[in-house]
Amino acid sequence: MTRSSDPAVSGLELWQWRQEARAAALAANVPVEELDWLLLSVSDLDKLALRLDSYKGRLQIPLNRPFAQLTQQWQQRIQDRVPVQYLAGVTPWRNFSLGVSPGVLIPRPETEWAIDLALKATQSESRPHPQTPLNQGDWADLGTGSGAIALGLAEVLPNVTLHAVERSEAALEIARENALNLGYGDRIQFYCGSWFEPLHPFQGLNQLRGIVSNPPYIPTAMLGELEPEVANHEPAIALDGGPDGLDCIRHLIATAPTYLCPGGLLLLEMMAGQAPAITELLQDQGSYTQIEIFSDLAGIERFARAYRS
Ligand code: GLN
Repeated sequence: MTRSSDPAVSGLELWQWRQEARAAALAANVPVEELDWLLLSVSDLDKLALRLDSYKGRLQIPLNRPFAQLTQQWQQRIQDRVPVQYLAGVTPWRNFSLGVSPGVLIPRPETEWAIDLALKATQSESRPHPQTPLNQGDWADLGTGSGAIALGLAEVLPNVTLHAVERSEAALEIARENALNLGYGDRIQFYCGSWFEPLHPFQGLNQLRGIVSNPPYIPTAMLGELEPEVANHEPAIALDGGPDGLDCIRHLIATAPTYLCPGGLLLLEMMAGQAPAITELLQDQGSYTQIEIFSDLAGIERFARAYRS
């Protein structure tokens, strides 16, 4: 139910605003689709209404925020290059609508595939130690950010308990909220800390069936070259992987074997060009087997997957 005090705008006013906002987007090289996506997320409009302009005659279109705020936010999109997901406060990711704020990295579409790769690994008959089921027990998502990976794993692996670790309190807050809102509050345990640190009770127990991480992997010197949306607005702590981008990945590869059970899975996201170095790190560590690299839909080598031997 909408009350007269709730934010709303007339169809005509919104139509006029949308024309101007589109023109501003075109002039600034911001994809115009983002404008409609923002409108869909703040109103009850659907794609067809936007396409046919059929909302133009409506007396009142309820909004989930004041119209003046929406106007200001579109300016922030155009002038300050704020990612549209931060303006909307949500992003679609797999089946979820995840809350996001500037305190967390916006989960990327390419990361969605980590969930499928992990699931496939649990179903594989050629994995090492196949007598140890991977679709139950404890899994970890290290550097969970918005909680995306932990949530995705919780959804496809209903008998697994997730341990989601995050160093940033602000991000952890969002991840917790996302888990509660999506009904996974009892499946995911959250910990504040750096990588394995808060999981020390598990150290040496070789108990984790899987460890998945999308760690910061961008070489520090490249951070400034990223799109302004990323470089100026997303948390550097989620991006900066040190001089060669591999600082966190090295730590994860070196430390994971004392946590993983024999046959346990390690799945890491990476950026283009890092596959050879990461393969070598996994090989040299000596505790991994069936090391494989997977490319994303853009053909970029994106994930390294290995099992604890
Ligand atoms: N994939 C992100 C990007 O393109 C980087 C995320 C990360 O460092 N893990 O900016």
